[in-house]
Amino acid sequence: MKNNIRKALSIVMAGAVTTAGMSSVISAYAEKEPETTKFPYTIEAEDMDDVSQVWTSIYENELPNYSGEGFHYITGGETSFNVTVAEDGMYNISAKVAQILSEEGRMQTIAVNGIEYSKTVPYYKEWTDFDFGTVRLKAGENKISFLNKYGYMAVDTVTVSVAEKKDYSLATGETCDKNATPETKSLMAYLKSVYGKHTISGQQEIYGGGHNNNYEWENEYLEKLTGKVPAIRGLDFMNYNPLYGWDDGSTERAIAWVKERNGIITASWHINVPIDFDNYEVGDEVDWKQCSYANYQKSGSTFNTANVLVEDSKERAYFEEAMKMLAEQLQKLQDENVPIIFRPLHEAQGNEGNYPDGTSWFWWGDRGAEVYKELWKLLYTTLTEKYELHNIIWEFNSYDYSNSQTWYPGDEYVDIVAYDKYNVEYNRGDGKSSGPNLRAISEKFDYLFKLTDGGKMVAMAENDTVPALDNMLIEDANWLYFCPWYDGGEDGGTAFLGEAYQDHEELTKMYQSEYCITLDELPEDLYSLKGDEDVKVTTTTAKPDDTETTTTTTAKPDNKDIVYGDADESGDVNINDCVLVMQSIANPDKYQLTEQGKKNADVVDEGGAITNSDALAIQYVESRTLTQADFPITSEELDKLSK
Ligand code: CA
Repeated sequence: MKNNIRKALSIVMAGAVTTAGMSSVISAYAEKEPETTKFPYTIEAEDMDDVSQVWTSIYENELPNYSGEGFHYITGGETSFNVTVAEDGMYNISAKVAQILSEEGRMQTIAVNGIEYSKTVPYYKEWTDFDFGTVRLKAGENKISFLNKYGYMAVDTVTVSVAEKKDYSLATGETCDKNATPETKSLMAYLKSVYGKHTISGQQEIYGGGHNNNYEWENEYLEKLTGKVPAIRGLDFMNYNPLYGWDDGSTERAIAWVKERNGIITASWHINVPIDFDNYEVGDEVDWKQCSYANYQKSGSTFNTANVLVEDSKERAYFEEAMKMLAEQLQKLQDENVPIIFRPLHEAQGNEGNYPDGTSWFWWGDRGAEVYKELWKLLYTTLTEKYELHNIIWEFNSYDYSNSQTWYPGDEYVDIVAYDKYNVEYNRGDGKSSGPNLRAISEKFDYLFKLTDGGKMVAMAENDTVPALDNMLIEDANWLYFCPWYDGGEDGGTAFLGEAYQDHEELTKMYQSEYCITLDELPEDLYSLKGDEDVKVTTTTAKPDDTETTTTTTAKPDNKDIVYGDADESGDVNINDCVLVMQSIANPDKYQLTEQGKKNADVVDEGGAITNSDALAIQYVESRTLTQADFPITSEELDKLSK
């Protein structure tokens, strides 16, 4: 648009038009500006702004079959184009690209109105459609750029299209524990009935002794600010432990929240281990300062998490004792018919990569994904079978790294997948450097959604800033609930409810909206709904169309059919599958395919092993050269394609 203004002005400056003529030039320009782009919109990359050279080959390497005049080869600077949309919304950006420099793949970065998105583009010696993901465009003109960070990627065309809305009805409303209590099934059915249409407000309470033992501090603060009380109360069972355990009343508060106030409870479990585990006897008391929930690399603990899986080990004996104490508390809830959204062994992959062996910041993740998954299953079977606890909705914390799916315990052990959002200090992605971060982080939501093919509900189990209402709606990131961590401001901790972390105006708008469910809006029959009946959802200020019914969906069968190429079991075949296969070959200790993933990845018939040929063939699915019907193919057929 700038060029047009310059052209218009130069005509004016040339004195070739009268004052009347000048105004007609300006009005013609003004009328033109609001014109919106028609989608899908495709631009020849060589026609982007600031492309200084049109390429037709990369030096001696021919890249035939480009469209238009040639292509753009990223060797420096920033190239861009603009699209204009009528209102804020979500759009997909894809490009036809080739990348012949790095066989291991090469990171590429696009920017949308200055906010950067990076993805690793594999080695493509032919033009291949590559999905750069779903981004938000704002009403008016938007600038989409290709940046030269790692560069050396050829771009033939770029396409922007309207993103499809997610299908929230895919999520199951049935608990993975088939013996779940009626109250637990009822709560699960309620969650499912609101998922995709509402978000539920939640708030973590301060732990033992904070705020001068006023455990209602956060709720009172929110009620004063917004006039509403959160529906979900977050707690932690860390104080019930075999080392320095003390009863801080968490269990009683949980029961009261459900029985007296008809609320919902969730809890995490920051279970500690003794640092000097070698000299510890199970049953010993240990001062809390000599205990840790950190990984052994940081704490120096001699507790070996992998040994928990060894039946007669001391680590196992300790973990059994810890589970027993946890079970005692959960039993008290069950005796009172109180179900719980339980999030044990959380953030297992957190901080992965910052320690020499690439493991996470909590001890339960410090021996990698395979040990972690077995630990989760041990906890699941111990609580459900040995202690017969059937009042648990099992919530798993995920990350969105390229290998995060390898940490997922499996559909049969998980009811909800959740993300913990902390993006005020780091990884903001909103172009600001401080203050509340109101983004709905739809890219994280999308990852978690795809993790289970939409089959499990997706929640924001912990967070700093509560996302803005408009952002959640526009970005199609319908988090089942949000739950800011406790406010430790007065107690020397982080003031998560203060104005450095929350935009009080936006938080109030959220709490008072029809979209957000607060304590007063939970149905009276929250714990007596029948899972096999329609669930009626109402909010106190609901519009007529907010009253909806839902039918229960059945969980996915355990034995899935083979989806050729879908190595990460995400439900579709894309570059992530190819990358995961290559990673699993290059670094099998860190990256592992699931049993189903292996079946899916074995697309080239060469005796059952997963090899680079499989990765290569999966690329052809992405580029639509090969389809499901073509598999399995022989090595010879693959060779022909590669030539
Ligand atoms: Ca082109």
